[in-house]
Order: sequence, then C-alpha cells, then structure tokens
Amino acid sequence: MNRVSAYLHDFIALIFPELCQSCGSSLVSGEDVICMNCVYDLPYTNFHQQPDNVVARQLWGRIKLENVYVLLYFSKGGKVQNMMHQFKYKNMPRIGNRLGEIAGKQLAAADRFKDIDFIIPVPLHPRKLKQRGYNQSAQFAEGLAVKMNAKVEIGNLIRLKHTDTQTKKSRFSRYENMREVFGVVDPERLAGKHVLLVDDIITTGSTLEACGLVLLEIPGLILSVGAIAYAE
Ligand SMILES: [Zn+2]
Repeated sequence: MNRVSAYLHDFIALIFPELCQSCGSSLVSGEDVICMNCVYDLPYTNFHQQPDNVVARQLWGRIKLENVYVLLYFSKGGKVQNMMHQFKYKNMPRIGNRLGEIAGKQLAAADRFKDIDFIIPVPLHPRKLKQRGYNQSAQFAEGLAVKMNAKVEIGNLIRLKHTDTQTKKSRFSRYENMREVFGVVDPERLAGKHVLLVDDIITTGSTLEACGLVLLEIPGLILSVGAIAYAE
C-alpha cells in the first residue's frame, strides 16, 4: 500500500471499524475477522489430540473413519452460535476461512492428519449455493488448506437432488433421504487417497455419514471427517 491508500484505509477503518464476528468489538490492526481475545477464548474441543472423542464414538459402527475432528463446541446463545449465524446468513464467508486457518494450524501439528491428500467440503445444492453465494463448508476447507499440505477438491463429490428441511424427520428417515443425494464424478482421482471430508456444524452426523459412505466405495480411500462445530 502506498501512503495515500494506507491513509485512506485507516480513515475508512476509523469510520467503519471492522467488527469481531464473535463478540462484536472493533478489530485492531493485525486482527482478522475474530479478535485475539475471542481466538484465545473460543470453546475448543481439542479433538485433534483425542482419537476417541465424543463425536468419533457417536460415529462408531456407522462408518469406517480414520480420524474425527471438530474445532469448537457449539452451545445455544454462545459466541459460536452468533458467529455461525453471521457465517451462514449474513454474507460473511471469511469467517469460514479464518476458522479453517485456526483449525488447520491444529491439524498441521497432529501426526494423524499429516498424510491427508484432499480436503472435500460437503457440497451444497446449486440452488442453495446461488442463494447464499458461497458454500460455508468450502470456505472452511480453503482455510484448512492454507495451513495443511493438502488440496481442496471441489466439484468431485456432488449433490444429486435437493433435500428439504429435515429437522422433523427421524434419524433413520433422514439417513434414508440423504443416502440418495451424493455422488462422485471422478472416483479414480481419489482412489488410495486420504480424504478429509468437512462440514460446518455436526449434530447427528447423518450428512457426513451419507457423503462418507459414497466416498468409501472408492478403492483404497481412507476417510477422516472434520467440522467447525459440534452441537450436542
Ligand atoms: Zn471478539
């Protein structure tokens, strides 16, 4: 930046300070999307250091997974809920990148995640993608890739048909419904690779399970899953 544009940048920041997407306080120079206090204080799961964490146990027997990782605990009324709301509904795609970088730093230091080849976000239906303008899981994946030695793979795992809001259905019917909806365009590319499949919020795990079962049909594929937040 030259002196004039640096001055202009500071001036604009003075009138429209960028706010922390977690607590709402003004960001200072060097802070990006989330203030340092919040970065320090977020409810981290530390699942990268716990192979048999609560979400891994929830998925046992349903799908064969190498590693299960979640960055944060989600609680109603908490900072993470506020942040995820901004992320999903207020056109703030950078929240995903920022959280991805924080998570990627943890995973880059964890041996069990060192050999991941591809990071694959759970795909959004094209109609929803057009509505929102971005796939929140893909933003998270991009952030992860900044810190990890892995490529983001988009457009290979695809959604085949739209599923409507499923919150009122039982877990079984939700699974039956989801099972139909994912497909892989180029399976050879993923054969024998270690894939990290990522979603935004994990609750029952049925979406990751449905995508994962499709991916695990590929010969030699090793599957790990990750998410930004876990809501009990
Ligand atoms: Zn903050």
